[in-house]
Amino acid sequence: MSEMKKGLIVKACCLAALAVVLMGLLAGIACDSSTDSGKLKVVATILPLADFVKNVGGGMVEVTTLMSAGDSPHTWEPSPGQVKTIADARLMVINGAGLEFWMGKVIEAAASPDLVVVDTSVFPDMEGLLLTADEDGLGNDSEHGVNPHIWLDPLLAQQQVEAIAQALIMVDPGNKDRYLENATAFVAELESLDEEIRDATESFSIREFIAFHPAWTYFARRYGLVEAAVIEETPGRDSSAHKKEVIDLARALGIRAIFAEPQFNPQAAQSIADEVGAEVLFLDPMGSPDLPDRDSYIDLMRYNVEQMRLAMA
Ligand SMILES: [Zn+2]
Repeated sequence: MSEMKKGLIVKACCLAALAVVLMGLLAGIACDSSTDSGKLKVVATILPLADFVKNVGGGMVEVTTLMSAGDSPHTWEPSPGQVKTIADARLMVINGAGLEFWMGKVIEAAASPDLVVVDTSVFPDMEGLLLTADEDGLGNDSEHGVNPHIWLDPLLAQQQVEAIAQALIMVDPGNKDRYLENATAFVAELESLDEEIRDATESFSIREFIAFHPAWTYFARRYGLVEAAVIEETPGRDSSAHKKEVIDLARALGIRAIFAEPQFNPQAAQSIADEVGAEVLFLDPMGSPDLPDRDSYIDLMRYNVEQMRLAMA
């Protein structure tokens, strides 16, 4: 058994409902979760993961993204209609690390014996790289006590892509060679993206930044930047004492821009920016199919690096 399959099963055993899913898989239950055109139905929770599936699955898959532009994964939960979409799929791709906090009950409600769930945070080597609230020093926004924003580090994203490739091969072994070929090509693109970001961030004269919530912790670790503070440690909750700390820190660091995020009201960022004479710029961890400059993972990351460049170069 490959490391990947072990990882999947270990994770699945944590949740009774997922264990049932995996038992169905191991028993080799036949599946009809394909579209009329014979494509494999895949659901992904967020746009970056859906983009990874498109890149690896090519014309062999039909991908549905569950969350839309403007949804924050920290509060979003699937609608009954989306539970049906999940039930009709053959493969569900989740980020893991607590991002999909609703997962257990939704899998139970979907009650699909054919559904295979791939948790892309349990790929070999990933676990030791996850940051807990204590380690990132900024609190965290996941009920699992782990910072879930792994996809915003392109090299951790490579591992998520490998996990997706292995899962597609598990459910559709006949197309193994094509999935492997596509995954290799896309992993190479992420390698180039990493180099591009390294080149861009190396010369930043300001190394610290203030983000809206702790989405950029892995990104900062990868590129030697410092997520010095966040406006809301847990989206939707903040305090005036914390706001004062952030203002003092922004002044001390000579911060030129405070980062808001399109999924949240920019008012808190704006009021801090006003106090310190900085501007508000937007970092976007999620992307959107409606925004051409952010409708793929690579374009999304380029957009974010450009926003950081405006504030930190
Ligand atoms: Zn987040």
